[in-house]
Formats: sequence, structure tokens, C-alpha cells
Amino acid sequence: ASGYPLLRDPHFNKGLAFTEKEKDAHYLRGLLPPVVVSQEIQVKKMMANIRQYQVPLQRYMAMMDLQERNERLFYKLLIDNVEELLPVVYTPTVGEACQKYGSIFRQPQGLFISLKEKGKILEVLKNWPQQKIQVICVTDGERILGLGDLGCQGMGIPVGKLSLYTALGGIRPSACLPVTIDVGTNNEDLLKDDFYIGLRQRRATGQEYAELLDEFMSAVKQSYGEKVLIQFEDFANHNAFDLLAKYGSTHLVFNDDIQGTASVVLAGLIAALKLVGGTLAEHTFLFLGAGEAGTGIAELIALEMSKQTGAPVEETRRKIWMVDSKGLIIRSRMESLQHFKRPWAHEHEAVGNLVDAVKAIKPTVLIGSSGAGRTFTKEVVQAMSSFNEKPIILALSNPTSQSECTAEEAYMWSEGRAIFATGSPFGPVEYNGKIYASGQANNAYIFPGLGLGLIISGAIRVHDDMLLAASEALAEQVSDENLEKGLIYPPFSNIRKISARIAARVAAKVYELGLATRLPQPENLVAYAESCMYSPAYRSYR
Ligand code: NAP
Ligand code: MN
Repeated sequence: ASGYPLLRDPHFNKGLAFTEKEKDAHYLRGLLPPVVVSQEIQVKKMMANIRQYQVPLQRYMAMMDLQERNERLFYKLLIDNVEELLPVVYTPTVGEACQKYGSIFRQPQGLFISLKEKGKILEVLKNWPQQKIQVICVTDGERILGLGDLGCQGMGIPVGKLSLYTALGGIRPSACLPVTIDVGTNNEDLLKDDFYIGLRQRRATGQEYAELLDEFMSAVKQSYGEKVLIQFEDFANHNAFDLLAKYGSTHLVFNDDIQGTASVVLAGLIAALKLVGGTLAEHTFLFLGAGEAGTGIAELIALEMSKQTGAPVEETRRKIWMVDSKGLIIRSRMESLQHFKRPWAHEHEAVGNLVDAVKAIKPTVLIGSSGAGRTFTKEVVQAMSSFNEKPIILALSNPTSQSECTAEEAYMWSEGRAIFATGSPFGPVEYNGKIYASGQANNAYIFPGLGLGLIISGAIRVHDDMLLAASEALAEQVSDENLEKGLIYPPFSNIRKISARIAARVAAKVYELGLATRLPQPENLVAYAESCMYSPAYRSYR
């Protein structure tokens, strides 16, 4: 493109940063004011503008507008201000954006594949302007964060996740494809909402659902080959586990809610043990919430314990207990349990609620993955603190409103002894004259690096050992200085370096397992990963 269309193309537009030579060479004279500013000045200006908005959703919209207008500036902003902007383009603000997606909708982002597109998905994929796709993030909108069924308005999630693949993992923006599969919604409010953008029908299920997903998965493989990474995101658990199992042997698939969460939480636990002492197998774990996040984390912990001790997973799983909406998961409930809960049904008498479960099991680690806010009550945290010197407490539910407890509550009720981390970010809190900073068990620590590792090695399948490798690589990035402050995750400001290390470790595992197609293996994988990462600096057009 050149001239006026060049200014309207977000991939190439530089706004006021076009140089005099570029103005001459590309018919831009007169279309721009006389100044030429640097990208740094543009970043400064945009940040000042964004900071003026008090309402988080306005910040989100300003970022989305920028992405549609000047892609490189959008990524430069995000990379240089990652800690400040992550909560804007991702949780918690993206949750509110999805809830209101219909009313704030301006420009479509990503591909919408609804039941209307059945039988035509290959053609739909051809309508997308890019054909060299490396990562797809796909949702069906049924369980958006902890907010439930948002139907087609879930599109904010794959768009946001993929912007993090680029900003944090260095995947080229043009290689990323956000997809929303619309099979309807059971959200009555949305069905009645004049501004709803999706199919106005209740969710298709069973064969109709399976067929659409199957057509999508085949079309993707046919269009982009076997090495395209497909990340399933925010599917309800009654589909998520089955989809992962079904396509895990034919496609390069990854479910961030199950596997990414597991990997990031395991990393935090490995780091936390440096503060608390003991090996994983010496600890006892209790989960509130036995869904995708909870059972995914539990399974990876059990696997790591098994690798460390040599004991079979059937045995290591016994150190992990779960409470769901019906109370402690126990043997006598086996018949009525969904299949993914069954490995966690141990011998025990019935326990109806979390406080009683904490008192009965006496866990050293308490993990909230229920989506139900305010469930780590004073009584729960005090019980944890009564038999643990340093209780490890993770309140993972998102967004902030759903967090099992706040950082302030965790430190206050544990008298400053909790090793605490959350799903959504909390600022530092003061208790008894001391400042406590808690870490964020953000999936964004893992998936961008994991994805980069899979891509640079040309992986064709995801294996649990790659998740373990990612966890170990992340845990190693937590410094003694971080630990002294009680932080079990490294600061986000170094995330691109962290991602490169995770990528290198994951890629090494891909080669080791014989699942790599990019041969020969590069000698220095960290350097190679870094060299592959997208830079948002402007290029000069001659
Ligand atoms: P999910 O598959 O729907 O599972 C939710 C589980 O919580 C179910 O087992 C459910 O019990 C249980 N539950 C719900 N309300 C409860 C209550 N009041 N008391 C006890 N148990 C309750 O959801 P998910 O995908 O696992 O996600 C759960 C939460 O984790 C979400 O808020 C999500 O945002 C968050 N999450 C955080 C991270 C992170 O921090 N990095 C990553 C992923 C997910 P039943 O089975 O009996 O209904
Ligand atoms: Mn998710």
C-alpha cells in the first residue's frame, strides 16, 4: 500500500513517525502534518492519553482502537508497559469488555464461525487476510473467565490472548488467528439484548456441536498444516476435557485453562517450596473447585511428584484433595462424579463445606479454583494458619470480583504468614506496618513461551513433559530477592526474557521426545528463541 491507504493499514501505518523520505516515496506529502516524531514519543503520548481514562473499559477501547490503527505502536506500548497494560488488554478488564462487547463493538476482530458457516469453514478460513498462521486461539464462549456463558461476545478472549502471544512470546501478529465458534448461548440476558452480536438461539449440543468442531479442526489442519498450534480457551468443562483428549492425538492442541494454568501454578509451588521447605510429595493439597483449572493443576502436581519420587501417579494423587459445590470429593460419591473428578475421590467420610474440609484434611497448600468469590473466609484462612507456619494460599479465580479472598484478607487473617498469590492482580498491602506484595499466577507467564517453544522446534504434538519443562524454567526465574519479598513469581517486566527461556526449555523437550520437525536442532536454543521473536520497532520503507 502507499498514499492514503497506507495510513489506513494498521500493519504498515506509522502515524506521525513517517520520515521525510517515506513521505516522498509513498505519496504521503500533505496527508500528514509537518512534524516527524519518534516511536518513543508516540508511546509517551499514548500512555499519557490512556492514563487519563479513569474507567478501565475506556482504556481497553483506547488500546483496541490503537491495535486497529497502528499495530506496531500497539505492541510497542504493550511490551514497554506490560505490567500496567496487561490488566487492560487481559483479565480483569477484558472480562467486562466481553460482557459489554455488543455495545462497544466497532470493528470486527478475529474470525466468527457460527452454525451458519457449517459446511463452509474452509472458505471462511480463506476469507481471513493472512494464510501463514502459526497460532490459533479458539473459544466457544461458554465459560469466559469466571463470568460464565457470554456466547459470541467471548471473542475478546482469543483476541486478548493472541496479543499476549505477540507481546510476551514474540509470535508475529500476522501469524495469530483469533476464532470464536458460535453455537448459540444459554445466557438469557444476552438473548434478550438488542446489542448482542451472536446467534440468537440456545446452545447446540451433542452431534450438532461435535460436527461443527470437527469441521473446524479438519479445515484448520488442511489450511495451515500439522504444525499450527490450536489453543482451546474458555470452553466449559463438559467439552474442554473431551476436546483435548479427542484432538490431542491428531493436532497440536493445548488447553490453557487446564494445562497452562497447571504449568503456571506448579511453577509457583516449586518456588514456594524454597520458602516453606519440603518436597512436593511431603505436602498436602486441598482445592476448592474441581473443574478445568483445579483438576488440571492437580494432575500436573501428581505427575511431577511421581517423576520426583518414582511412585506411580495413582499413588501421588492421594496427597491431593478436592472440594466442589457438593463438598469434599470422596469415594462414596464416585458413581455421580464427572470423569475428570474421579481420580481425586479418596476414602473419607462426607464433609459438606470448605472449612470442615480444611480442618479434616489439614492441607499445607490451599488452592481456590472455583470461580466463586469470597469463599476463603476468615475462618478458612485462620484454620490454614493454625496448623501451618507458612500456609500456601492461592486464590486463582478471575476476574478480581471472583477471587476467593483479597490480598489484604489473606495477610490480615494469617497474621502476615501466608505465602499468597492470586489469579487477578492485587496491589501491595500494608499489614502491621509491613508491606506485602503478592504474586499473580498469571497464565501469561507460560503460554507465550510455551507456544514459542513449540513453534521454533516445529512440534507436532503437545506432551505433559513439555508443561513440566515450562514450569521448571519459570520457577528458576524466581530470584532469592523475589522470594525474600514473598513473591513466588518473577516480576512481569522481564517477561520476554522469561518467555525465551521457557521456549528454549520446551523446545529442548520437543527434540528429546522426537516430536520436532525443525531439524537440525539449533545449538543455543535460548539465543535462537530470542532471535525469532517479533520486534515492534518500526521498519523503514524505501
Ligand atoms: P470450571 O471448570 O467451571 O470449574 C469450577 C469448579 O468450581 C467446579 O468443580 C465447581 O463445582 C466448583 N465450584 C463452583 N462454585 C463453587 C462453590 N461455591 N463452592 C465450591 N465449589 C464450587 O471452571 P475452571 O475453568 O476450573 O475455572 C475456575 C476459576 O479459575 C475461574 O474463575 C477462572 O477464571 C479461574 N482460573 C484462574 C487461572 C489463573 O489464575 N491463572 C487460570 C485458569 C482459571 P461443581 O463441579 O460441583 O459444579
Ligand atoms: Mn481462560
